[in-house]
Amino acid sequence: MPPTSPLICEKCQGSMVATKVAKHGNGLRVIGYTLWVPTLAVLLLTAACGMFVTGKSIAGGPAEMKAQTAATRAKLVEAKAPAAVLAAFDDKTVVPDDVLGTVPEPQRAQIRAVLHTHYAAVVGSTTGTGLVTLASGCGVVAVYVVGVPLFIIGLVLCGSRKVWKCVSCGYVFDRG
Ligand SMILES: [Zn+2]
Repeated sequence: MPPTSPLICEKCQGSMVATKVAKHGNGLRVIGYTLWVPTLAVLLLTAACGMFVTGKSIAGGPAEMKAQTAATRAKLVEAKAPAAVLAAFDDKTVVPDDVLGTVPEPQRAQIRAVLHTHYAAVVGSTTGTGLVTLASGCGVVAVYVVGVPLFIIGLVLCGSRKVWKCVSCGYVFDRG
C-alpha cells in the first residue's frame, strides 16, 4: 500500500496517496527514451573502446620498439659490426661517432645505413602511435561533448515528479 497522506483532497475530500506522475506528455517521453537509451549505449561503448585503444597503445608501443631493436641488432651482426658497436647499440641503441669511426669502410657505411633505417622506423612508429592515440582521444571527447547533454535531456524528458494523488477524483498535489 502506498503511504496515505494526512491531507484530504481539496476538491472532493477523498484520501490522497503518494505517487509519481510523468513530468511530460507521452510524445516528449518517447523522445526522451529514444535520446537517452541509445546515447547511454554509445557512451558505454566509447568508454570501453577508449580503454581498449589506450591499453593497446601502452602495451603495444614498447613491444614494437623491442622487436624493431632486435631486428636492427640482427642486421648489425649480419653487417659484421665489431663488438664495440654492438655494445654501444645494446647500451643506448645509439652508436657514437667515435665508436663508429673505428670501423673501417665500407663496413662503416653499411652500419650507418642500418642505424639510419632503425632511427627512421622508431621515429615513424612513435609518431604513428601518438597520432592514433590523439585521434581516438579527440573522438572520445567529441562523443562525450555531444552525448552527455543528449543523455541529460533524455532523462529530463522522461522525468517524473512526486505528488499526492486523490484516489477518488485524481486531483494531484506536489509533494516537493
Ligand atoms: Zn478528490
